Amino acid sequence: MIDQLKDFFSTPKKVVIITHQNPDGDAVGSSLAMYNLLIQMGHTVQVIVPNNFAEFLKYNEGTETILQFDKNESTKQQVPEVFADADCIIVLDLNDLKRTGVIEKYIDAADAFKVMIDHHLQPQKFADYMLSDTSASSTAELVFQFANQMGWQQYINKTVADCIYMGILTDTGKFSHSVTKQLHETVGKLIEAGADVKKADIELFNNYSFRRMRFWGFCLGQKLRTIKGVKAAILPLSIKEMHRHNVQKGDTEGLVNQGLAIKDIEVSILLKEEYDKIKLSLRSKSDFSVNEMARTHFNGGGHKNASGGKLEIPLEEAIKKVESVLHLYNELK
Ligand code: 5GP
Ligand code: MN
Repeated sequence: MIDQLKDFFSTPKKVVIITHQNPDGDAVGSSLAMYNLLIQMGHTVQVIVPNNFAEFLKYNEGTETILQFDKNESTKQQVPEVFADADCIIVLDLNDLKRTGVIEKYIDAADAFKVMIDHHLQPQKFADYMLSDTSASSTAELVFQFANQMGWQQYINKTVADCIYMGILTDTGKFSHSVTKQLHETVGKLIEAGADVKKADIELFNNYSFRRMRFWGFCLGQKLRTIKGVKAAILPLSIKEMHRHNVQKGDTEGLVNQGLAIKDIEVSILLKEEYDKIKLSLRSKSDFSVNEMARTHFNGGGHKNASGGKLEIPLEEAIKKVESVLHLYNELK
């Protein structure tokens, strides 16, 4: 199959790269890494995101070319046309096309050759070529592997290395999980290729606005709580509270990990009120699977130690539901 792919990419192609809604560092990093690889070979490439993403993820080259589907009426019209015209669609950092939102139907309808590269559990089989490795730290790490399998080593330049490093650094929580010898060897090669690790650290983690810092203070001081009888912490946030603190896209990124930093806490859950649902972020330490919990109780999924989900009920009810679900697990007692 790799030989067929090499052959496919040996002549100029129209390629669309798509990732999941609310793109995170890995989604943006892996998409831009792939973009910056392919444009060097003369392909015509368009990265599409379903919706906007955090400002602190916008420092890599190529960001300015990303087409945001829901930006306005014109982009909403343009996106289906781009998909219909594509020779190849590369789907990154998602295991289920549902995670692209309404864009799913344009991917389904397209005749293009479909490639999927991802590291989430239980991948959906929709692609003509799938690189799925649930043990990988990030999709960005898999894009690096893919580039090597394709013989694209000479195209892994500083820009590509910076994009891959962004995905790895964010999805491993600054190398706190999914860390392997192979991952560090990959990072070594990225540094060799010119990745600016200092810049990445500053852009991604030492770049808070004072307002965001104060908002985190509010969350830790007044909203984070542990639950009696279970080794769990929850942090519920209402729309009103987020408005009051003028919360911007990306401001809650990483917040759920704070609950996990508490001694003896095994599971941390952030409940964020949106207009039509409550969005849940789940994190766990060691062997407890929040993927199983999210799939069984919260219409979601993800990884063993980091998953997401949603509940279409009011926030107060969602808090009660989460508390009762947590009590179902003997491992948490
Ligand atoms: P986060 O809490 O950062 O939004 O998401 C954590 C992980 O869970 C990510 O790997 C993400 O892809 C996955 N995830 C988040 N929300 C959902 C969801 O609604 N459904 C599924 N299947 N996975 C999700
Ligand atoms: Mn990822």
